Amino acid sequence: SDHITIIGAGLAGCEAAWQLAGQGVQVRLYEMKPHRFSAAHSSPGLAELVCSNSLRGADLANAVGLLKEELRRCASLVMQAADATRVPAGGALAVDRGQFSAYITEKIASHPLIELVREEIVELPADGLVIVASGPLTSDDLAARLARLTGDRLYFYDAVAPIVTAESLDHSKIYAASRYGKGDGDDYLNCPLNQPEYEAFLAALRSAEKVAPREFEKVVHFEGCMPIEEMAARGDDTLRFGPMKPVGLPDPATGEEPWAVVQLRSENREKTLYNLVGFQTKMTWPEQRRVLRMIPGLERADFARLGVMHRNTFINAPQLLLPTQQLRTEPRLIFSGQITGVEGYVESAASGFLAGLTAAALARGSEPPLPPRETALGALIHHLTASDSRHFQPMNVNYGLFPPLEGRIKKKDRKPLLAERALAALDKWRAEALS
Ligand code: FAD
Repeated sequence: SDHITIIGAGLAGCEAAWQLAGQGVQVRLYEMKPHRFSAAHSSPGLAELVCSNSLRGADLANAVGLLKEELRRCASLVMQAADATRVPAGGALAVDRGQFSAYITEKIASHPLIELVREEIVELPADGLVIVASGPLTSDDLAARLARLTGDRLYFYDAVAPIVTAESLDHSKIYAASRYGKGDGDDYLNCPLNQPEYEAFLAALRSAEKVAPREFEKVVHFEGCMPIEEMAARGDDTLRFGPMKPVGLPDPATGEEPWAVVQLRSENREKTLYNLVGFQTKMTWPEQRRVLRMIPGLERADFARLGVMHRNTFINAPQLLLPTQQLRTEPRLIFSGQITGVEGYVESAASGFLAGLTAAALARGSEPPLPPRETALGALIHHLTASDSRHFQPMNVNYGLFPPLEGRIKKKDRKPLLAERALAALDKWRAEALS
């Protein structure tokens, strides 16, 4: 067919449409609002920010600041709108949400190559290139269709355990071992707790402040996905017999199994990030920092990601997607935005930008360009398509996802150097692949 279909005019769908139209490709963009609203959307405008009006950190000390700068250099519509509707917010880039949405709606609706259709898609178009950008609250009928298409590798809730950076761990207290010595010995690190430490931790968990679920998020916690504070509430030993089970994990310092352990599993091949195994939680973020730093070895932990549990429709991207975000089994379908397992407004826009590039290249019959691994765009895509599919959970962009720098570099110099390396790689890529 002569046009590319995009489903969903949120952050990802609008950015993808803009990139395609900018390359001269005709787009039909479907949006179900205002006929139907998800539980979190309420305005008829496009690219609605459903919760906070902040696009998070503005400067390069934060990887999301770098991602924004990369998108800006790539002529992103979302960044253009954000910069034009910015409101003062200290070190963050916050926007007037009404003006932000109005800016994007106007640009999209008035573009001669974009046809905006206010209609819910329940069946995927039978042919042609399609970008699925229907977001974390994809409508039920479409979600059911996508569940069939992906062999039920579509999830409806996320349960993200906190993630810490390897360099912030106190390795004098932690030991590497996998249970009963099975598997690769250094895939897991273990933080041992003695009985008084365990009891103090339990008490802190029980009294910590929790996030109240929104009405549509009040769900029964399915097995294997219960928050740690819920387990702590069930009994003194529930955690010790659950995710904090010490069996088969003797501490080499004593030769004995500790009273309890917290296991850390490497989150990426470079082993720069570790996930607290089974530690999904609904504690507030300040409480997570306070309570989790009581765990031996985590006293100075730097959290690349804090735990969240919410309603979120997303697919198992490492299993299902190519690095271009095309579905392996049906490559004319391209996934984009939060539904791929990126997390956040800016990340969703970034995924939309890349989906636009992929679709434009496919429409021309050429090879889709892939962003270099050193860039924030590349680091994000790498997480989606190269992380372990057995433990896949959504992720914000963060510096732990970047390939480590060569040589010994002082901690305070690392982020600026990673950002500098990323922008140099981005500019080179833009000149070679995008011009
Ligand atoms: P969306 O922006 O949701 O866009 C998807 C669009 O598709 C919507 O307009 C929807 O109406 C439409 N649609 C859905 N199904 C169909 C269909 N079948 N046919 C046609 N159209 C359809 N991220 C942050 O960075 N900060 C936050 O504060 C934040 N808060 C969030 C709060 C909630 C309640 C949720 C659910 C998510 C939040 N997120 C937040 C995560 C995420 O960044 C945003 O949801 C972001 O908007 C995702 O962008 P997207 O383009 O993938 O989806």
